Amino acid sequence: MNKPITVGITGGIGSGKTLVSKLFAILGTPIYNADNRAKELINSVLIDPIISAFGSESYEKGVLNRAFIAKQVFGNKEQLAVLNSIVHPAVAIDFENWVNLNKSTEYVLKEAALLVETGSYKQLDKLIVITAPYQLRVERIRERDTFRSNEEIEKIMASQTSDKAKIELADFVINNDESSLLIPQVVELDQKLRQH
Ligand code: ATP
Repeated sequence: MNKPITVGITGGIGSGKTLVSKLFAILGTPIYNADNRAKELINSVLIDPIISAFGSESYEKGVLNRAFIAKQVFGNKEQLAVLNSIVHPAVAIDFENWVNLNKSTEYVLKEAALLVETGSYKQLDKLIVITAPYQLRVERIRERDTFRSNEEIEKIMASQTSDKAKIELADFVINNDESSLLIPQVVELDQKLRQH
């Protein structure tokens, strides 16, 4: 069998990427969660390269010192580019290896919050965008992430590409506005992707 087609699944914070990905997983689709996997790599094979670039304070007891790293890269484009140049290629290689382990499936999904913002959607065959109204997304995040202030939620949303711009790049759009039924949209898309 040929390689599976690689399909990105993205959407802004609170759009429901994780929930929709779980529905695809129930239908048997392998899911690569890029954000979780990046964290795992950062706390394993990337420890040495990150310490070489940012110094020994980057880790505390083998776990990334997020506050320290955030301070290094916040508002500093060059340092952020250095961090990205370590993390992004490692995730890309890890994803490629993972795709090779899933050769017997028609398609695989790569879930990530910033597929569009980082441009990594360009390396994928297809792109699914999950969309939901702004206010509904704010309410979901308020309920799910009680530790976040309203200002923080709004700041994250403002830093992400708008749904409109993401939809323009999408091959498929899933509407998660809680009035359109979600499961039939996922089942229909799964069938389309299996028949590619
Ligand atoms: P993030 O970018 O923060 O990871 P996400 O896009 O992955 O967000 P989810 O975590 O899937 O979003 O959803 C956000 C919250 O909204 C979760 O608590 C989820 O259970 C809830 N939610 C999402 N879609 C629906 C829905 N259709 N009906 C009810 N609750 C929903």
